[in-house]
Amino acid sequence: MHFPEACDFVVFGGTGDLALRKLLPALYHCDLEGRLPADTRVIAVSRSELDDDGYRAEARAALAEHVAAEFQDLAAVERLLERVHYVTVDVQDPGSWQPLFDTLKDRENADEAVRVFYLSVAPSLFGPICHELGVNGFAEAPARVVVEKPIGTDLASAKAVNNTISEFFDESQIFRIDHYLGKESVQNLLVTRFANTFLEPLWNSHSIDHVQITVAETLGTGNRAGYYDRSGAMRDMVQNHLLQLLCLVAMEPPIEIGGGREDVRDEKLKVLQALKPMTPADVDRDTVRGRYTSGWVAGKPVEGYVEELGHESMTETFVAIKAEVQNWRWAGVPFYLRTGKRLDRRVSEIVVVFKNAPYDPFRQREGVTEPNRLTIRVQPEEGMQIHLNAKEPGPGGYRLKPVSLDLSYANAFDKRSPDAYERLLMDVIRGNMTLFMRRDEVEAAWAWCEPILKHWESAALTPKSYPAGSAGPTASFTLIERDGRSWQES
Ligand code: NAP
Repeated sequence: MHFPEACDFVVFGGTGDLALRKLLPALYHCDLEGRLPADTRVIAVSRSELDDDGYRAEARAALAEHVAAEFQDLAAVERLLERVHYVTVDVQDPGSWQPLFDTLKDRENADEAVRVFYLSVAPSLFGPICHELGVNGFAEAPARVVVEKPIGTDLASAKAVNNTISEFFDESQIFRIDHYLGKESVQNLLVTRFANTFLEPLWNSHSIDHVQITVAETLGTGNRAGYYDRSGAMRDMVQNHLLQLLCLVAMEPPIEIGGGREDVRDEKLKVLQALKPMTPADVDRDTVRGRYTSGWVAGKPVEGYVEELGHESMTETFVAIKAEVQNWRWAGVPFYLRTGKRLDRRVSEIVVVFKNAPYDPFRQREGVTEPNRLTIRVQPEEGMQIHLNAKEPGPGGYRLKPVSLDLSYANAFDKRSPDAYERLLMDVIRGNMTLFMRRDEVEAAWAWCEPILKHWESAALTPKSYPAGSAGPTASFTLIERDGRSWQES
């Protein structure tokens, strides 16, 4: 791992949504804060017939729209745009690639610059891109290739995608992004667990009752309905983001974090391998699929999924699962996962619910005290809360009341919380793979998801309905309440 002096950051799909909405603003912030290698070029590639100036105009508009007003600095925008170039290539037409190759070679010490190839295109184009880069000698280390989800739609197709990339790039050059891992609060989970002593003795089945991981969105599928319908909540969210969060909660302490060793990824893999495989009976009992119907979100009427899509569909927009990590630390501790679209709130959080006190010397009239909880809030506001019982002030004996210790990132640090992509793009440039998914992780996650998907498919049951703007299908509440627990809505 080293910080290069020169970098060519090539974005295939440079005119696309991800590039304009996320990648360019992230590069802008990195440049603004002087973090990009001094000699960096950003080379956007797609089929659109544009020249440098035409693309820069699009990029300027995208930065104006997607960079928060307080960080808009016109001089800095123009400085970044001077680094930006555009090349028209149809990646499926080998005859159209030469201008890109010429551009890559057209710089001083071209062979010493770290080349990052960010594949911000449909996965069907990964093959042609890697092939052309490989056969033309552009895939040699220190070149790096970055890919986004979805990596396959099942185990076999994920292996096929990975094989395609591996034909030309070594695993040490392949950066598979899960942007959740770039979020500050997610990295802070590692710091909370492994830079403090108070939690670790409690972080196991003796003290933890269960864990909840929720990723709830208020948005529907919008103009991604076509893509989404081939995917669904399980493939789009659980296989990657939710399982990655679960891994960080459940993994054993790694030897080193952030230094470029493989420890974190090794430990995450062990968690995925320890997930209890689901039989068809488990799937029937421990999973819930849902799909939103019309309803109200933020005071506005919205259509149901099927109406948005324009045809009938069996795709789920909501999933809840009770999972189990079968190892010494976690045996018997349920991990309840849920994610969905068009829900009543936008929130991503992990809630670790501790066991209740074994005995209540205060003899509360209700009979029980609230169990302690640790909430790690990933979005919208990043932060952490510890929920405790405290004495309500007053002379009338002991009245206990749940209170929370709040750590809001925005309040605790007088610093902007960077977008996940900023951290991840800099890690790619530096060659630090810790926060990227290794091939075996992706495939282990698919191996666990596949029996669930297969059983759903063979059962051919329509997902359970929930009105847009609600908290999800009733069955998702039954899933947890039948165990005497409830979803925590903080
Ligand atoms: P998009 O808006 O549809 O953009 C696709 C890009 O690919 C466009 O720039 C398009 O430009 C280019 N392209 C298509 N065919 C091409 C070809 N034959 N040769 C060269 N360029 C070609 O897609 P996106 O939303 O940016 O997503 C990109 C990738 O990231 C996808 O794999 C997606 O699943 C993944 N992803 C996206 C998001 C997101 O928030 N958008 C989040 C997670 C993952 P031309 O039409 O000009 O060629």
